[in-house]
Amino acid sequence: MFSVIMSTCKFCLSENVDTWFGSWCARCHKLQRMIALFSGEKIMDVLTSVLITDDNTREEKIKQELKTELTTREYSLRKRKEDK
Ligand SMILES: [Zn+2]
Repeated sequence: MFSVIMSTCKFCLSENVDTWFGSWCARCHKLQRMIALFSGEKIMDVLTSVLITDDNTREEKIKQELKTELTTREYSLRKRKEDK
């Protein structure tokens, strides 16, 4: 009886490889293509800012952005009124 034992991906160490002769899974091959397309540095930047920022920091950032947005809007409204 012949059985193919798919080995584990050498990159993520969790998925099975996509081909019996390959050493990476399908997902990691996609990642590899993305890294080639956007450069590893860019991918790391995006992943770090999206995934490794904790919730508090993210919420603070959103609040800060809203504040800036509101202040800018208020200012331009006031300015418009003054212009008339
Ligand atoms: Zn993998």
